[in-house]
Amino acid sequence: MLDEKVCWEAVISKDAGSDGRFYYGVQSTGIYCRPSCPSRRPLRRNVRFYKSRSEAEQDGLRPCMRCRPDAITLADSNKLRVRRVSEYIRENCENGRSSSLCELGREVGWSVFHLQRTFKRLTGTTPKEFEKNCRTEVLKSRLRRGPSVTDAIYDAGFGSSSRVYEQADASLGMTPAQYRSGGHGVTISHVSVITPLGLMTLGATDRGLCFVQFGESEQALSDKLHAEYPNASLEKMKEPYPPIFQNSIQSLLRYLRKEQIRLDVPLDINATAFQLKVWKYLQSIPYGEVQSYGEIAAALGNPKATRAVARACAANKVAIVIPCHRVIRGTGELGGYKWGLDRKRVLLDTERSGMAARSASR
Ligand SMILES: [Zn+2]
Repeated sequence: MLDEKVCWEAVISKDAGSDGRFYYGVQSTGIYCRPSCPSRRPLRRNVRFYKSRSEAEQDGLRPCMRCRPDAITLADSNKLRVRRVSEYIRENCENGRSSSLCELGREVGWSVFHLQRTFKRLTGTTPKEFEKNCRTEVLKSRLRRGPSVTDAIYDAGFGSSSRVYEQADASLGMTPAQYRSGGHGVTISHVSVITPLGLMTLGATDRGLCFVQFGESEQALSDKLHAEYPNASLEKMKEPYPPIFQNSIQSLLRYLRKEQIRLDVPLDINATAFQLKVWKYLQSIPYGEVQSYGEIAAALGNPKATRAVARACAANKVAIVIPCHRVIRGTGELGGYKWGLDRKRVLLDTERSGMAARSASR
């Protein structure tokens, strides 16, 4: 039998040591959580305790989208994060970039201290040592294939720091909008593809994607495109597609098939300064993770801007590439989604199982 008083104390103190021993369900929201769930604490009178997930689910409760009681354990999640960090370092090395500890911590939501300690504990080496090895490997393989030695050295990230910064900036994948609101004077070419989430229309200027949305028919989607950019000239894209666009489509499809977790797809979108801030922040939320509207508002320095954050998410024109599906309510409920809650749930489940598959395959 569960001692309700002890359980409640564990919930109040968000005691991670109690994870796996029991779950708590919140009757008012219909979800159940691990004791350590970072979401807002519910009122005691709305809470019930369960020994197992199946008991909670028999009671009609759904797993929290925040602490994912139906998903991996803490130990698994440490491993996944360390793996993410090593992948991130490796990818950066391949692109000639060096990764700062702060950046690595942000990538997985850890402090620099926690990152170094856990990385060392699980791999026997530090992130910096690991990076050095990667860089040398990259350099070696480039030298075997590459055209000139100086190019190879530059490519492997041994070049000047200004070059590193230039590349880091480009990695945000967001060029400042070069055109006025409504797309005046801009030509947007578009194409529709069938995806596991239904029909998806992509629109692009010659600089990058400006529209990625789901809809029920080509007509509905082309109406939406026109509504977002009433002053632009729209044209159907002809094959063969420009390489930049072809790569973007391929990236998105690989993402939906769980074959790719990072989307470095060039965007060309117009936005207010605040929207841009929110959208860039959304791109920093790691694959497979979620944050609440309130947390994002706080991270952007204005904890009261929860609604404004939600509005910026709703104004997103490029689904997935700006991952507004990774934002949920502070209670752990799914919250809203511009392209339907079912799609949001599928996207979050895709990412979660994508993470699990990656961890199992190594
Ligand atoms: Zn939870």
